[in-house]
Amino acid sequence: MKDLFYYQDVMMQQFEAEVVSKGLENGRNYVVLSNTVFYPTGGGQPHDTGTLNDVQVVDVEKVGDEIRHYIEGTVDGAVYGKLNWQRRFDHMQQHAGQHILTAAFVELFNAPTVSFHLGAEQVTIDIAVEQLTEEQLIAAEARANEIILENRPIETKWVTEQELTSYNLRKEVAVTGDIRLVIIPNFDYNGCGGTHPTSTGQVSALKILGTEKMKGNVRVSFVCGQRVLAELGMRKKVLTEVAKQLSVPEAEAASALVKVLATQKNTEKALATAKDKLLQFEAHALIANHDTIVAEVLTQRSMQELQKLARMVVTEKPNGIALLATETEGKLQFVAARGEQVTISMKSVSTVVLPLINGKGGGNDQLVQGGGEILMTAEQLVAAMQKSCL
Ligand SMILES: [Zn+2]
Repeated sequence: MKDLFYYQDVMMQQFEAEVVSKGLENGRNYVVLSNTVFYPTGGGQPHDTGTLNDVQVVDVEKVGDEIRHYIEGTVDGAVYGKLNWQRRFDHMQQHAGQHILTAAFVELFNAPTVSFHLGAEQVTIDIAVEQLTEEQLIAAEARANEIILENRPIETKWVTEQELTSYNLRKEVAVTGDIRLVIIPNFDYNGCGGTHPTSTGQVSALKILGTEKMKGNVRVSFVCGQRVLAELGMRKKVLTEVAKQLSVPEAEAASALVKVLATQKNTEKALATAKDKLLQFEAHALIANHDTIVAEVLTQRSMQELQKLARMVVTEKPNGIALLATETEGKLQFVAARGEQVTISMKSVSTVVLPLINGKGGGNDQLVQGGGEILMTAEQLVAAMQKSCL
């Protein structure tokens, strides 16, 4: 273990080794090498990728004592290996950032981390507390960035179980035998088998992006290093576009948006009031043009409008019946409503007309609505509805 290249020199990007054994696992070729810089998935850190003699290494896993390099092709004998360094260094930045942020939460609030996930976009830690305040998050982030800026060394040390007792570890170590400690002097002492840069400065920066409650813990999402710039770039692009659309400086985008949304709400209210007034006028006109039964075809109306209009008509005319139909979006739709002095049930209207249009509907004795296929004109539908009331 201690002799593995990625433990000997974490900054090593290429190496030479011998193929020790080969195998096939679930249709995937793998090789085991005499030594490697390829870090296998473990301790919350994803595996490395890269090449062996120009053959792609797509996955690296530790199975028993073997480190299996899953490759897209075959290699034999002596191999020259090369890491996808961008991916590995990113993992090192995120992983070291996690140590630092976790230690900051412990130092400031005695709030321990219970799990860690290094995702493709964001890193998360679950902290064993009911909640974290905005102030606590700001303080922990500031402390983490202070440690990064101080550019403290990140040291590793192999110790025995007996030697462990002389270190004040952040949490108990699960492994036995030789144990690898990752140490940021006077800040964090931690058993860890992952890869980290050699100094905190290489983490570059750490930014908390959000929190959510997770099974009694608080999950904190953050990014480090290059990912901070990538996040900033994405957010900058979005904010610039929002500010441009609102014609305000970026710093005023949020307050401008609040104003726009408030205006929109008021406009919607005013429009709804105006529409209701229009319908009221329409209802008066319908009543004026008809006798007891107000039967009418309307063009391109929503079901909601038909219902409102029918209700307005029979409210004004308690002895009347409103039979309204429209053809909209490839459907025939209708509403039938009765005034309070009328005794005939509107359900009898839908019983007669729904089969004519292969339709579906609902309602009660006072008002029914329905819709179906255009198997006749809206005028014919209204005529059928009218006939069913006579
Ligand atoms: Zn670690």
